[in-house]
Amino acid sequence: MVAPVALRGTRPVLLVSCCVALMLLPQPRAVDSFAPLRAAMVTDQIQRRGVADPRVLDAMRTVPRHRFVPATLQHLAYTDRPLPIGLDQTISQPFIVAYMSEALGAERTHNVLEIGTGSGYQAAVLAHLARVVYTIEIVPELARRAAATLKDLGFTSVHVREGDGYAGWPEQAPFDRIMVTAAPERIPQPLIDQLRAGGRMVIPVGSAEQWLTVVEKTAAGVIERRTIPVRFVPFRRGRG
Ligand code: SAH
Repeated sequence: MVAPVALRGTRPVLLVSCCVALMLLPQPRAVDSFAPLRAAMVTDQIQRRGVADPRVLDAMRTVPRHRFVPATLQHLAYTDRPLPIGLDQTISQPFIVAYMSEALGAERTHNVLEIGTGSGYQAAVLAHLARVVYTIEIVPELARRAAATLKDLGFTSVHVREGDGYAGWPEQAPFDRIMVTAAPERIPQPLIDQLRAGGRMVIPVGSAEQWLTVVEKTAAGVIERRTIPVRFVPFRRGRG
């Protein structure tokens, strides 16, 4: 038996110092075992349905969606469906997040307002595309959780506020881009007002039947264009 003998004398001291030295070195990021599932999600669910913006695809490949769903549902995080996140709310289907992000056309210099933080996942995707993201959530517990998740993952350019997003975020307006992820029956006027001239908003509109609508604020006025039928939770009114 060589090993016990070899560990006698100064060797253990050397071993301990090496361990301490290793602990002091910057640790490589934990291996993300979900990365292959995420890559498959992008090719099979998102690219296959026509989303092609390379920046959006890259963001969808990067953001760890499983960290934004309840622990018990992590194994379903990369499936082709919305998932419950508690308090009667849902995280959108990956394709819808990608489709809306592409439709928004956020650029690296833009400030973005999101209404309906939910899990914080869409905000994290937007953080990859824009300079800064302001996001408002009406359910206090969800706002708190999303802020904690985003902080944990190191998203310093996302600011979460609890309240009724109907009034927007006047202190940070105007916005280059606005994304709404709950469906009102009509587009809230304060959000149109807080859109920069030349800016764009993506918003589901309707109740029983909802259409994802792209709103452009042009010199000639506000132009609305319906895109695809969608199903979002209702835009609530109340706290603010
Ligand atoms: N973007 C989210 C999913 C949105 S679910 C994600 O990536 O996980 C829609 C969210 O909008 C819900 O959390 C709901 O509570 C919130 N919401 C509904 N009405 C709102 C309002 N008036 N202001 C802010 N948030 C609202």
